[in-house]
Amino acid sequence: MKKILLYLEGNRAQELSLLGACERMVEHQDHRITAVGIKDTLPSGNSLYDEIIQIDDSIKAYDTLQLCELLEQLHLKHSYDIILFPASPLGRILAPRLAIVLHTGLVADVTDIVVNGDVIEMVRPAYSGKLMAQIISTSKGPLMMTVRSGVFTSKSTMLKETQYTSFNSVTQGSKISLLETHDKPSSKDIRDSKVLISGGGGVLEHFDRLHELAFVLNAQVSASRRVVDSGVVQRKIQVGQSGKTVSPKLYIALGISGSVQHIEGLKNVETIIAVNTNKHAPICSLATIVVEGDAVAFIEKLLNKIKITV
Ligand SMILES: Cc1cc2nc3c(=O)[nH]c(=O)nc-3n(C[C@H](O)[C@H](O)[C@H](O)COP(=O)(O)OP(=O)(O)OC[C@H]3O[C@@H](n4cnc5c(N)ncnc54)[C@H](O)[C@@H]3O)c2cc1C
Repeated sequence: MKKILLYLEGNRAQELSLLGACERMVEHQDHRITAVGIKDTLPSGNSLYDEIIQIDDSIKAYDTLQLCELLEQLHLKHSYDIILFPASPLGRILAPRLAIVLHTGLVADVTDIVVNGDVIEMVRPAYSGKLMAQIISTSKGPLMMTVRSGVFTSKSTMLKETQYTSFNSVTQGSKISLLETHDKPSSKDIRDSKVLISGGGGVLEHFDRLHELAFVLNAQVSASRRVVDSGVVQRKIQVGQSGKTVSPKLYIALGISGSVQHIEGLKNVETIIAVNTNKHAPICSLATIVVEGDAVAFIEKLLNKIKITV
């Protein structure tokens, strides 16, 4: 039986991506999935997990030294075959630290998994996205990876009778002191938005208009790398291989050609509307609806229509 450990941080999109990655690896094998995390990041009641382990309340979410020590002890007790972390700021610190103490390898930022018999190939962008590396672990230790949010999704709907336990075996006290805290200004993440109004080279000069449409549709604005590289918007809203992977219900692509690198960032999008002056642009072959024409005219017409309806 394959034993899998997932580290949860209370972010649903991350959690579904981790579960989807598990399902890809062990779909036809006997397996047991355990989720671990600090209080308030874990589901309650019956869930998609066989077991949920709550970490001792005294350990803080930022204390990667103590968390690592605890996860090491957990692994020594249960000998997991696979350990997965979200490719989040915390996961990117915690996972390599744990891989070192467990004497195993780690593949960071996994965006795809290919299973060939018993061999699991982990795919991740390399050299700033210039190639997709397929990596096989030859280590005897657990298979470890950090998984990008939004690249996998769980198909599982069957809730299990989850067993709840807690784990308190940290031996050393914390070596990290919290000196002061500052409130972070709230900034929304494009990965959390159900509707994205995304702009590319075709709307470079009129990018501000996208915000008007986003406002009335309760959406967020994202962009192709062309717009980011032109300095019009910040990289944090870039969709694609070297940007973020998004899974909104609706993706409105305005003046975006649909390069391979851009499409790489669209996973499990329900509906794509492509507005482009060139109906043969690659994005149009992916889109549910293609509007051939000027994207700025499209925004104006849609805004007028919405205003009239409201
Ligand atoms: C290593 C590497 C990583 C990369 N990573 C990413 C990434 O993460 N994300 C990403 O997006 N790109 C990425 N790129 C860049 C990618 O290859 C393309 O250059 C980029 O996606 C092009 O952006 P675009 O389609 O918005 O712009 P363009 O290529 O300029 O396309 C503009 C489109 O708008 C249409 N158009 C023009 N005028 C109008 C108008 N008035 N109304 C409507 N349509 C109009 C055109 O027909 C065209 O289809 C990467 C490239 C490399 C080499």
